[in-house]
Amino acid sequence: MNIKETNLSFGSMSRRSATKLIILHHAEASNCTVQDIHRWHKNNGWAGIGYHFLVRKDGSIYRGRPEWAVGAHASGSNSDSIGICFEGAYMTETMPAAQKAAGKELVAELKKKYGISKVQAHRDVCATSCPGTKFPFSDIAGAAGSAATTTPTPAKPTEKGDAWVSRLQAECNAQGFSYQTVDGLTGPNTLAGCPQLGRTSRGNITALLQERLNALGYNCGVVDGINGTKTQAAIKAYQRAHGLVADGIVGVKTWSNLLGLS
Ligand SMILES: [Zn+2]
Repeated sequence: MNIKETNLSFGSMSRRSATKLIILHHAEASNCTVQDIHRWHKNNGWAGIGYHFLVRKDGSIYRGRPEWAVGAHASGSNSDSIGICFEGAYMTETMPAAQKAAGKELVAELKKKYGISKVQAHRDVCATSCPGTKFPFSDIAGAAGSAATTTPTPAKPTEKGDAWVSRLQAECNAQGFSYQTVDGLTGPNTLAGCPQLGRTSRGNITALLQERLNALGYNCGVVDGINGTKTQAAIKAYQRAHGLVADGIVGVKTWSNLLGLS
C-alpha cells in the first residue's frame, strides 16, 4: 500500500496516547485534495487537516495529520482514534471501486498495525450524517465494523468548546442545514450551517437564539421557539447595539456577530 507523504505545515498538536478505533468520514465535497482540507481546517482555527488520511476517488491515499497526533475529526473520540476521510459526498454519490478498494486496504492495514478491530462511522459517535447514507461502510470497515445504521447520539462538547455552540451545531445538523463537527468551536462551517431566521421564525434554532439573547441581556422573554414581538424587539436591540442593520432578520451578519466571528 502506497501512502503519499505530504508536506503540510501544522500548528501545535498533542501525541495520541492510545489507538482504539478507526473512524470513517466523507469530505462532503465531490472533489478535494488534502491541501484543500488542510486549508479549510486551518480556517477553523485548527492545527491543520483534522484527518490522518485522505482516500481519493482514484484510489490514491494521502497522509494528512501525522499518525501519532490527536486528530480533529470526531468530537469526544479524537483522543484514541485514527480518522480517515474519503473524497466525495456520499449522501448522493456512489463510491468508485478504486477508492473503495484503497479504503478497505488502508483500514485492514491499520487494524493489523494497532491490533484493533473497531471501526465506526462518524455518525456513530457524533450527531452527523457523515459519511453519508451511500457510503459503503461495511465493505470498507470489514469484519467487526459497527452497523452502518447506528442511531446517532448527541455529541458532548469538548472542554474547549462552548456548550450553546455545540447545541446549535447539533441542531443545524439535525435539521439538515449542515454536516459539521459538533465541537462547540465556531468557524466558517458553523456560520454556513446557521439558517436565516425570518421575522416570524419558529423552532429549536429560534429557541437557541432566544436563549443566547437572554443570556446576553436582550430579553426575549420565555424561550419558546416562537419569534414574536418580544423576540423581535430583542433581536433589533442586539442588532442596533452591534452596528448591524436592525431589521429583525437573523442572517449571516447577525449570526456571525452572535458566534463571535465578527
Ligand atoms: Zn465526518
